[in-house]
Amino acid sequence: MIRLEGLTRSYGRTTAVDGVDLEVRAGELVTLVGPSGSGKSTILRLIAGLDRPDGGRVLVDGVDVAGVPPHRRAVAMVFQDYALFPHLTVHGNLTFGLRVRRVRRAEADRRARAAADRLGIGDLLDRYPDQMSGGQRQRVALARALLRDPSVYLLDEPLASLDAPLRFATRADLLALHRELRTTTVHVTHDQHEAMTLGDRVVVLADGRVRQVGPPQQVYDEPADTFVAGFLGSPPMNLVTGGGVLGGDPDVTLGVRPEDLTLDGEGPVAATLEAVEALGSEAILLTRCPDGTRLTVRTGPRPGVAPGDEVRLRADRLHRFDAATGRRR
Ligand code: ADP
Repeated sequence: MIRLEGLTRSYGRTTAVDGVDLEVRAGELVTLVGPSGSGKSTILRLIAGLDRPDGGRVLVDGVDVAGVPPHRRAVAMVFQDYALFPHLTVHGNLTFGLRVRRVRRAEADRRARAAADRLGIGDLLDRYPDQMSGGQRQRVALARALLRDPSVYLLDEPLASLDAPLRFATRADLLALHRELRTTTVHVTHDQHEAMTLGDRVVVLADGRVRQVGPPQQVYDEPADTFVAGFLGSPPMNLVTGGGVLGGDPDVTLGVRPEDLTLDGEGPVAATLEAVEALGSEAILLTRCPDGTRLTVRTGPRPGVAPGDEVRLRADRLHRFDAATGRRR
């Protein structure tokens, strides 16, 4: 279990982490998601002990780890850029830490092979890092983390440098691994798909602050504010401030997700279709209302309309936010 209490870290005038409170339960996988610069990596580094907070505390299994150096914290961190030793083979990279901890050679060898097999790189033990693809290197880094048998995994964008198919496959492997090991994990990503699919809960960050914490579907269905509403979901939620085409009051911002807008000849909202993005499995319609409001609509493939058409829309599920504060009402 990890507990962050009022965690704060500034670099000069930049407040990277601004009073973060968070509890990660034992065995849980939590994803930290937010735009670049929102403080995700800094939070991981503070948990790992690679950096010190200006204020607040990090507790691991109930113990304040302030005085504990990184190598004594029972955490294993995996970075985007693997951080493998280039002059050691996969076998060498995997056994290095074990040998430092004085695990006997035969035992280190056995454990390294088991971890490599677990991640499907058992036949690469004699390769050097520069003889492998990015995906294979990332698996070595994950296998090495596995060998530390930590009480907490800290993963910093571990899939970011992989191409799309490999990212998809490795994401599934990570999930399976977590289901099996049930080790408490904090996974940092800027990719909302990764955050949604991997996390038992997601933590949405902006400007060093926690904007919302919850199970992925709940955060998607009930975003706490307009920032979260606009950040999770692609294309993002349509937000219309103060009355306008969706109705509502001047002090309310109304939101509707593209999939909750439907082409409906009887619908109350009139719009002109400006563009159709056909994505194969679905289509995204870009529309503009007479008052200039733009609404994005998600439909099935082959929606049967073309740019220039006048359409009518129905909004099925409205989100209400305070126009002044952006908070959900
Ligand atoms: P994220 O991981 O969400 O992209 P970071 O935690 O890396 O965000 O950074 C948060 C903010 O703190 C950014 O504005 C970044 O420029 C700043 N920052 C992070 N580390 C340092 C550092 N070592 N020195 C100066 N500024 C830093």
